[in-house]
Amino acid sequence: GPQKVDREVDSVCPFCGVGCLVTYQVRDPDPTGAVPARIISVKGREGPANEGRLCVKGRFGMDYIHSPDRITKPLIRKPGVAKDLSLIDGHTDWREVFREATWEEALTLATQPLNTLRQQHGPKSLAGFGSAKGSNEEAYLFQKLVRTGFGSNNVDHCTRLCHASSVAALLEGVGSGAVSNPVRDVEHSDLIIVIGSNPTANHPVAASWMKNAAQRGTRIVLADPRITDIGRHTWRNLQFKADTDVALLNAMLHVIVTENLCDEKFLRERADNVVELKAHVRDYTPEVMSAVCGIPADTIREVARAYASAKAAMILWGMGVSQHVHGTDNVRCLIALASITGQIGRPGTGLHPLRGQNNVQGASDAGLIPMMYPNYQRVTDQSAHDWFEKFWDTKLDDQPGYTVVEIMHKALAPESDPHKVRGMYIMGENPAMSDPDLNHARHALASLQHLVVQDIFLTETAWLADVVLPASAWPEKTGTVSNTDRTVQMGRQAVQPPGDAKPDLWIVQQIAQRMGLDWPYAGEHDGVAAVYEEMRQAMASAIGGIDWARLNAGSVTYPCVSADDPGQPIVFHDHFPTKDGRVWLVPAGLIPAAEQTDAEYPMVLITGRQLEHWHTGSMTRRATVLDALEPAATASMCSADLVRLGLQAGQQVRIASRRGEVQLQVRCDDGTPQGAVFMPFAYVEAAANELTNAALDPFGKIPEFKYCAVRVSAL
Ligand code: SF4
Repeated sequence: GPQKVDREVDSVCPFCGVGCLVTYQVRDPDPTGAVPARIISVKGREGPANEGRLCVKGRFGMDYIHSPDRITKPLIRKPGVAKDLSLIDGHTDWREVFREATWEEALTLATQPLNTLRQQHGPKSLAGFGSAKGSNEEAYLFQKLVRTGFGSNNVDHCTRLCHASSVAALLEGVGSGAVSNPVRDVEHSDLIIVIGSNPTANHPVAASWMKNAAQRGTRIVLADPRITDIGRHTWRNLQFKADTDVALLNAMLHVIVTENLCDEKFLRERADNVVELKAHVRDYTPEVMSAVCGIPADTIREVARAYASAKAAMILWGMGVSQHVHGTDNVRCLIALASITGQIGRPGTGLHPLRGQNNVQGASDAGLIPMMYPNYQRVTDQSAHDWFEKFWDTKLDDQPGYTVVEIMHKALAPESDPHKVRGMYIMGENPAMSDPDLNHARHALASLQHLVVQDIFLTETAWLADVVLPASAWPEKTGTVSNTDRTVQMGRQAVQPPGDAKPDLWIVQQIAQRMGLDWPYAGEHDGVAAVYEEMRQAMASAIGGIDWARLNAGSVTYPCVSADDPGQPIVFHDHFPTKDGRVWLVPAGLIPAAEQTDAEYPMVLITGRQLEHWHTGSMTRRATVLDALEPAATASMCSADLVRLGLQAGQQVRIASRRGEVQLQVRCDDGTPQGAVFMPFAYVEAAANELTNAALDPFGKIPEFKYCAVRVSAL
């Protein structure tokens, strides 16, 4: 029967970047204390992004925190137990690999080798990965620890695998890496372009607002090699050939330029490099580009005209745009489209890179990236460098650190490399599942002289650690997160962490103390409000007007610079935050994917997510309802390819690339284009990233998860 609810606690959903507000319904411990407090259900709360709506993950995905798999004590690797990659499948009893320890011993054993490596090999021998699943305060303290304690800028997180190329193009073009308009602004759009995104699966409540807009007359254009659920609510579906984004977008720009559909007043007053862009796209006729991207020239013209002539049109995009070696170029084209048509700076217009994790926006804002201090201040900028040296009262490295994939390469660098990475501290990330070319990444992690992993489960990465520190799940701590709309919101502690598990903010401060740092944060929840207030000083132009008390009272959207500033959901009304206030347009050419199909590997692999599972699956595969809905790894192919290869839906298949091989069930999905196969990356037993290619976009340093060559065969 229904369980009695003892109390309700308001918070934010821990999964995607939509940032739905939730209320946990909590059952207190029984009087004997034998059954601890539990979250027994989750309700949607009135929030700016969700107005009470939740998707299946937010509603039914929270019981992962009560999983018996939680780590409840610090763990130390037993002497002589090799970092064997076969441990990653999780079938070994953890007691054969680790022993339990006290916090004092574990913190000493975690930190001493980091200090020794730094003394012997210099600051660049150490690196840290923080997490977009943690709070703003955790991200801020973690990057401060790496910069001031480890002594280099070798700090990054999964934004590098997600929207790093979008941020590179946006910073270059419009001077800000964040969205210009919130998702819910689609209700003011005549037309929206959804490109490289499957919002029903990855931003489900955001997708519900798009569908509501369509019901009221907004025309949706889906541009994607895969036609997913949102494609049933659209005006036009542009199923372009995988990897040909720039061809399609340049052809649209060509139509707008040659048919005089540009907003010349906007270009005159607010844009630079216009002549160069216009000259560049003249060669990209719809007829020529049609042969490249597979969309009929007439359709390209029709959509380009509709976008340019709409009263208000918005572009929303996802990883299908960003995860290419030309991801930055793809986004440059989107910026150009919005700018030459003046579709920016007003309600219902603008550019919206849909953020993946609940705090990937906030973690990036807080400086959890190797080339920038908090608030996107470049480490190479002398005045920013001087400001942070003074603010943190320490010497800082002025060279950008290595990015996620580069750090894996540096871990496998020869002994003679002065920048070889030898020790790492990983808080809440799971690169042994999320990195491209996993065989390489896992070898890199196993080769480290010292690896400290802080997490709530023995993740695939944690199996390779020397010390594992048991951390807290999101409902077990208090902190703030910033969603895809730039809205800062507070999550509150509802239950205690299990056993000896501790809040991440406490753990980071303990490590810092043992690296000789004297940090002053005091107060409830390990000084979270004090950390936030320091961060607010470092990020005054974004969140200067949002103090802790204001966040406790409700959500606020930055930029918000003073106590009486209501916050700005829509930006770029009259200027861009660039040096001269104008948008910089960058022409993009056609660059092919780093790996092409051939006779041996004739199909394209596209990786991504599905509605029920979140990223590497460590949380959602331990959520009872979500696991029941999607219990096993599958790959999707269209019926024509199944017939061609003599396969039946439901059959086990082998998928191989030049880097690895997996076995899993094949599923029929006619939204998947011919010649391609789609795989979610959440399943360790058939890890999509064993197949993917680690080739990087040169600007955003993002790997090409959306395109590599594979062979599919019957088992
Ligand atoms: Fe959570 Fe995203 Fe679903 Fe909202 S849409 S409930 S934030 S996973």
